[in-house]
Amino acid sequence: MLSTAEALVTLLGAARAVEGSETLPTLDALNRVLAADVVSSLDVPPMNTSSMDGYAVRVADLAQGDRRLPVSQRIPAGHAPQPLAGGTAARIFTGATVPPGADAIVMQEQAEADGNDVSILHTPKAGEWITQQGADIRSGSVILPAGTRLTPQALGLAASVGSASLTVARRVKVAVFFTGDELTMPGEPLKPGAIYNSNRFTLRGLLENLGCDVTDYGIVPDRLDATRATLREASRAHDLILTCGGVSVGEEDHVKPAVEAEGHLSMWQIAMKPGKPLAFGAVRRAASTGAVADAAGSELNETYFIGLPGNPVSAFVTFLLFVRPFILRVAGVRTVSPRALSLRADFSQSKADRRNEFLRARINPAGGLELFPNQSSAVLTSTVWGDGLIDNPPNHAITAGETVRFIPFSELLG
Ligand code: AMP
Ligand code: MG
Repeated sequence: MLSTAEALVTLLGAARAVEGSETLPTLDALNRVLAADVVSSLDVPPMNTSSMDGYAVRVADLAQGDRRLPVSQRIPAGHAPQPLAGGTAARIFTGATVPPGADAIVMQEQAEADGNDVSILHTPKAGEWITQQGADIRSGSVILPAGTRLTPQALGLAASVGSASLTVARRVKVAVFFTGDELTMPGEPLKPGAIYNSNRFTLRGLLENLGCDVTDYGIVPDRLDATRATLREASRAHDLILTCGGVSVGEEDHVKPAVEAEGHLSMWQIAMKPGKPLAFGAVRRAASTGAVADAAGSELNETYFIGLPGNPVSAFVTFLLFVRPFILRVAGVRTVSPRALSLRADFSQSKADRRNEFLRARINPAGGLELFPNQSSAVLTSTVWGDGLIDNPPNHAITAGETVRFIPFSELLG
């Protein structure tokens, strides 16, 4: 059996970033991955600005003791000032340009306007309430490196230096299908022995959250020929084929022989719970149309293949821990590992498991963790009830009060 870490290293080692980028309006680039550094062509702020409503002054004028100054100009934000005449103050507002010659702002609460004059009630230090040009960003600096996933705040940062468009990697193309003659779509009557295809909804949502371009082939019958035909079809214009179910070694599990016939496959037994079987390999790409190239420029003649277990919680957890980082790497993202928290267990679990458990848990109002009572890999309720996964190492019982490693779903779902 492979450890979780070994499986992840092998998987990420095989992931090659897609080639091909496009330039999009910054407003349309949310969740995409930068294919080139964003370099600022200007200082932010582009000039010295006031961070208060008040008066722009020359500190030396106040040091001489004359605390009543004529107001020589009024500078609202967005208007170019005149140089500050010696021995005068300028009325100024937040965000406005500090006039040349002024070296401090006195906030209006520390000044008293009197007709055309102002009495300054405070001796400012040089630079007080002035935001220096370039204090946030220097012209020429990389503000967002290639490989960054574009969050709303990253788009705002790009816009703050005037970037109207961004060069992003093309979307990762993923084909997905589901095996199992017992699977029925919601909306259809449930025949004896049938269950609803919940994984289709979970996996489609997970793929779409990652910004993938998804082709959903739906339910493929539990037959070797049908599975092979779908693999061949899906190999043409996709980077990854993802399947769910049928990767155990039962007689009705045709995914393994089908991928072996159309490409190659490694069956991994991962020492984790839920999960365990994961299939990783590739399907030969039917020649000609739609060939997809990687970042090195070499045309890949294979489409990656990952087969997930069918149990709904196993499929969900193995997707989050393995497929998500793999897809992010293929998308060109640099940092793909989720950040974990150290939190207190407010429960005990006296039985240690040989495998690395990923327990569905919730953060309680006291900031500790509570466990969903049923940790079966078929109980999807746990994934909705929980806030994340406790990553419990093999052979480790949990005692209430101890600190455990918790990976919040917020780190895994985007
Ligand atoms: P399998 O991996 O095909 O052996 O399936 C393991 C278990 O997961 C079986 O109980 C299946 O009925 C169930 N299962 C497989 N695929 C799905 C699916 N798409 N949605 C919900 N349950 C599934
Ligand atoms: Mg099955």
